[in-house]
Amino acid sequence: MVWKTVGQSASIERISRAVNLKRLSHAYLICGVAGIGKLTFALDIAKVANCLEIDENLAPCGSCNQCHRIDSYNHTDVHVYGVRKDPKEADRSATMVTIEQLREDFLKQVHRKPYEGRTRVFIITAVEGMRSEQSNILLKTLEEPPENVMIILLAQNPNNLLATIVSRCQVLTLEPVSESEIQQYLSSIALDTDVPLEEIVKLSRGRPEWALRAATNSDILENVETNLNLFIECLTSGLSERFNLSRNLSSQFSRDRESVYEFLDTALTWMRDVLLFSNERISEVIHISRNDQIGQFSDMLDPADILEVLKLIRITIDNLRKNVTSSLVLDNLMLKLPTVNLSN
Ligand SMILES: [Zn+2]
Repeated sequence: MVWKTVGQSASIERISRAVNLKRLSHAYLICGVAGIGKLTFALDIAKVANCLEIDENLAPCGSCNQCHRIDSYNHTDVHVYGVRKDPKEADRSATMVTIEQLREDFLKQVHRKPYEGRTRVFIITAVEGMRSEQSNILLKTLEEPPENVMIILLAQNPNNLLATIVSRCQVLTLEPVSESEIQQYLSSIALDTDVPLEEIVKLSRGRPEWALRAATNSDILENVETNLNLFIECLTSGLSERFNLSRNLSSQFSRDRESVYEFLDTALTWMRDVLLFSNERISEVIHISRNDQIGQFSDMLDPADILEVLKLIRITIDNLRKNVTSSLVLDNLMLKLPTVNLSN
C-alpha cells in the first residue's frame, strides 16, 4: 500500500473504511496547519478514488497509470486550484482560488463526465480566506453535487468557513506527526543537506511537508533565522521601530499572507522556548542553537508575561485570519508587547 501521507492514521483509516464500503464522500474538508500534508492527503484520496489496483489494505497502489498520472499532476480528471504544479513546492505556494477560476473553470469542469478515471476530483486550497462570492459558488455545487465528482477543500482553520459549507463536507483534521515518523520520512528520502535532520524535525513541529521543504531548500531555514532576528529586535526596541515593522508586515501581508503568518509562528516558537527555559525544560527547546539568548529572555520576563505574549500573538494570528484590517491588528500587537531590556 502506498499512502504518501505521513502519519494521520485516523484519517487514513476513515478513508479506507469508506473505500471498503464503496462510500467515498462527494465532499471532504481537510484541515490542518501549513506544511502538515493536506495536499498530499488530498492527492492520496484522489488516487484511491481512481486507482485501478486497490489492494486488500484499501490503499492506492501508487504504481498504476491512474496513480502515476495523479502524482505527476497529469490526470485530466484531477484538478488542483491554488497550488503551483510542482510537487516539491506543494502548499507553500498555496494561493486562494479566484472568483474567475471558479466561474470560468471550476463551474464548467465540474459538470463534465470523467475522461480517464472513475471520479473527477477538484482540490481547492486555502478556502478559509474565500469571500462570500466564492463561498456561494462552492456552496451551490456542494448542495447539488454532480455524479462521479469529489470536491476536496483544504483549510488551515475551518472556524472561518461558512458553517453551511462545513456541514456539507466530511471533515478530516490532520494532527501533528510524531518526531520519529518525520525523522523516518526524511531518512527514507535521499537528502543532500548539511543541516542535522534532528534540528529540522524539531523545528517542523509535526509538519512533515515543512520538514521536507526545510531539508531541501536552505531558504526555509534562513527565513526562520531572519524572522527570529526580526522578532527579537522588535522585543528589544522602542515604539517607532516597532511601528515601522508593523507597517512593513502589513504591506507584506497584502502581497504574501503566509510569510506574515510564518513570522508570527516563529515568534510563537521563540516565546514558547523562553517559557520552557524558565520551567527548566531545556531539552524541549526548539531553537537549540540559541540557548544562551533564550536564557537571557527568560531572566528578563516572568512566566505570566511570557504567557501573555503567547496569547497576544495567537490573538493576532486569529484576527488576521478573520480578515480584520491588518495594520490595526499588527499595530495593536506592537503596542502591547513588553519591552525586553537585555543590557540590564
Ligand atoms: Zn493505483
